[in-house]
Amino acid sequence: MRVVVVGSGLAGVTTAWFLRQQGADVVVVERASAAARETSFANGSMLTPSLADPWNAPGSFRALLSSIGREDAAMLLRMGALPSLITWGLRFLHNSSQQRYLESFLANVKLARYSQEVMQDLMQAMPPGTLDFDYAPDGTIKVFSDANALQHGREVASWLRQAEIEHRVLSIDQLVELEPALRPGSSRLVGGIHYPQDEVGNARRFCEQLQQLAADAGVDFRFSELVLGVERQGGLITSIKTSREQLRADAFVLAAGSYSWPLGKRFGITVPVRPAKGYSLTLPNVTAEPRPALAVVDDELHAAVVPLREGLLRIAGTAEFAGFDQEINPYRIENLKALLRLVYPQIDLDSVTAEAWCGLRPMTTDGRPLLGVSRISNLFLNTGHGPLGWTQACGSGRALAGLITTGQPEYDLADFAPSRF
Ligand SMILES: Cc1cc2nc3c(=O)[nH]c(=O)nc-3n(C[C@H](O)[C@H](O)[C@H](O)COP(=O)(O)OP(=O)(O)OC[C@H]3O[C@@H](n4cnc5c(N)ncnc54)[C@H](O)[C@@H]3O)c2cc1C
Repeated sequence: MRVVVVGSGLAGVTTAWFLRQQGADVVVVERASAAARETSFANGSMLTPSLADPWNAPGSFRALLSSIGREDAAMLLRMGALPSLITWGLRFLHNSSQQRYLESFLANVKLARYSQEVMQDLMQAMPPGTLDFDYAPDGTIKVFSDANALQHGREVASWLRQAEIEHRVLSIDQLVELEPALRPGSSRLVGGIHYPQDEVGNARRFCEQLQQLAADAGVDFRFSELVLGVERQGGLITSIKTSREQLRADAFVLAAGSYSWPLGKRFGITVPVRPAKGYSLTLPNVTAEPRPALAVVDDELHAAVVPLREGLLRIAGTAEFAGFDQEINPYRIENLKALLRLVYPQIDLDSVTAEAWCGLRPMTTDGRPLLGVSRISNLFLNTGHGPLGWTQACGSGRALAGLITTGQPEYDLADFAPSRF
């Protein structure tokens, strides 16, 4: 069986790897010159079943509308993006009921846990050190500066027990004992929650290394090649047209992140994802003591501070519905810096050169990814993971590959079927 995968971010590379493992002949077409050059490049680096809640919690739509024009809003809607969001926004609103929100939350958590298992299998199957991506299985800490928010956090944590997500509620003393680097900024905090099963790892390094392993295993990567459209015959896609060639295959996978939406139109399907821009700031050499060791999530500010390799610190988060615009907005970067100053006042931001980056999260209207066959029976989707594309990458890739090669994925993808839209 020959399969063409479009896109070599986390979704495309994991799909290609597992398709090859399951015996398929695989070609990946990517417009960039290497893997992980778009949204998978400098994300928050967290593998977090604990954070698998969709963004459309009840009330979030109103909050989103009221964010227009507020540069300091954690989630910001720009006027210019409104026309492209009308239908999408109505669906987002429709999925914001308590019941739908909780259903999607649970489905996402389960896929995230499965994905962690798949990643463990993958790491164990390789000689030690083959995948070297700053992996750390030490969990994440959610910190709270407001008693009501902490109470809500505790309720969410208890609810997550049904999906076997463990947690420990922490007093300030316990918090600074677990992460001493929080002590200098602890006066604003009221408590925290440790999620020990969460993990950390550099998504770009993982994606680049898995891409190399896949290429060594025979996957044909065509970089710097733009997918333009498809040829169809008798209701099936027969080939895709790229800037260089025509590629025939039995099956096709659209894993083009937020661009799956415009590309989907060219393929003849509607892919209900929209870009939600997020930012990260990477500090190369943090030496301030006490030095951060664990990933810390500030839930109210929608952002996280994540230590990677020795001295490397990443701050990531915030969301902006601004279409496909990829300009770095200095106000949004200032918000991340302000968060860092709050969490770790001991770090002198003026003495380091921080690298700013932004990426477009591919968002669906119910917060669940699109995994499965489209209305064209040989066109499959692996996209729409929004803020969870790293957390759910390995599981999504293996399950979708199983669906394509055998028709029976080892993980049931019914909750993620594109046909739900
Ligand atoms: C600030 C930020 C922080 C985040 N933090 C986390 C986190 O901590 N944990 C987590 O789980 N997730 C996180 N995410 C989300 C995660 O990064 C994304 O969900 C994930 O990277 C999406 O991967 P993808 O492969 O679907 O898309 P992409 O990585 O964008 O890959 C799509 C690829 O398709 C290619 N492409 C597009 N159009 C074409 C075309 N016409 N022809 C050829 N190629 C094409 C693109 O060049 C690109 O390489 C974060 C995202 C952001 C923005």
